[in-house]
Amino acid sequence: MQLPPTLIRALVLAALCLVAAPATAQQNPWGVAPSRPAAPTPVPGGAEGGAVPGFLRPIVAPIASAQRDLNRTISRELKAIRETGSLRALLVVTGVAFVYGVLHAAGPGHGKLVVSSFFLARKARIGAGIVAGSAISFLQAITSIVLVWGLGVILGQHGFDVLGRSVWLEAVSYVLIIAIGLVIAISAARGTHHYDHDARERVGIGMVIAAGVTPCASALIIMLFALTNGVLLIGVGLTLVMAIGMSITTSLVGVLAILGRRTIMVAFPAESRVSGWVAKGLSVAGGVIIAAIGSLLLAGAWARLG
Ligand SMILES: [Zn+2]
Repeated sequence: MQLPPTLIRALVLAALCLVAAPATAQQNPWGVAPSRPAAPTPVPGGAEGGAVPGFLRPIVAPIASAQRDLNRTISRELKAIRETGSLRALLVVTGVAFVYGVLHAAGPGHGKLVVSSFFLARKARIGAGIVAGSAISFLQAITSIVLVWGLGVILGQHGFDVLGRSVWLEAVSYVLIIAIGLVIAISAARGTHHYDHDARERVGIGMVIAAGVTPCASALIIMLFALTNGVLLIGVGLTLVMAIGMSITTSLVGVLAILGRRTIMVAFPAESRVSGWVAKGLSVAGGVIIAAIGSLLLAGAWARLG
C-alpha cells in the first residue's frame, strides 16, 4: 500500500504526539477531589501512571499543561451549568471534553499497547483497527459510567471508595488480557494461526472486551465530579463525548500497527517460506507482548490492592 507523503508526515507527527503524551496522564489534573476534599490525588495510578524520560519533557510539558487547562475549563463550566443552566457553558464543555479525550487517550493505558501488539500479531484491514480502537474507548467510558452509577448513585458510596473499587475491575481486565495474549501466542506457535474466521473473530472481540473493561480514570473523575455537582446526566454525555475523542487516538494506534505489519511483510516475497516465518514470528511476538503487558499491569494493580 502506497501512502501519500502528506499522510505519512501526519502519521509520523501523530506517532510523535503519542510518544510525547505519557506525562499528560501522570496525575489527576482535575484539582478537585470528588467527595473528600483534603484527600490525596484520587487517580488509580497503575494503568495511567508512569514517569516521563527527561529528554521527552520539553515536548511533554506543553501537552500536560494544555490538558490541565482543559480540566479546569471542564470543572468551571460544569459548575456554571449547574448554577445558571447556561447553554453556552454546555457547548464549551462538550467541545473541551472531545479535545480532552483525544489528548488524554494518548497518555498511558487505554489499550494502546494491547491494540498495537494485537494488530502486529495478525493481518487485518484498516477498518478493523478503527473498529477495535473505537470499541475499546467506548467500552472504557461505559465501564466508568456504570461503575460510578452503580457504586456512587445506587449504593451511595463516596468518590474515593468508587476509585478504590475500580482497581478490582482493572485486575479482571488484566487477567483477560493475559489470557488473550496467551491464546494468540500459543495458537501462532502451534502453526494454527490460520484457524478459522470465526475463531479469529472471537479472539478479536475478546481482546476488545479485555482492554475495554479497564475503567478510564479521567472518565471516572468526570462522572464523580458531575455526581457531586448534581449534573450526572451531563457527566454521562461528557464521558461519551470524551470517548469519541479517545476513539480517534486509539484507532490511530491500531491503524499505525496494521500499516507497520504491512510494511514489514512487504519486505519479504509473499508466500515464500521466509514470509511465513516472519508472519509467524510477528504473531507469536504480538501474543507474548500482550501477555507480558497484562502481567505487568496486573502486578501493578495487585500492589495497589495490597
Ligand atoms: Zn483514561
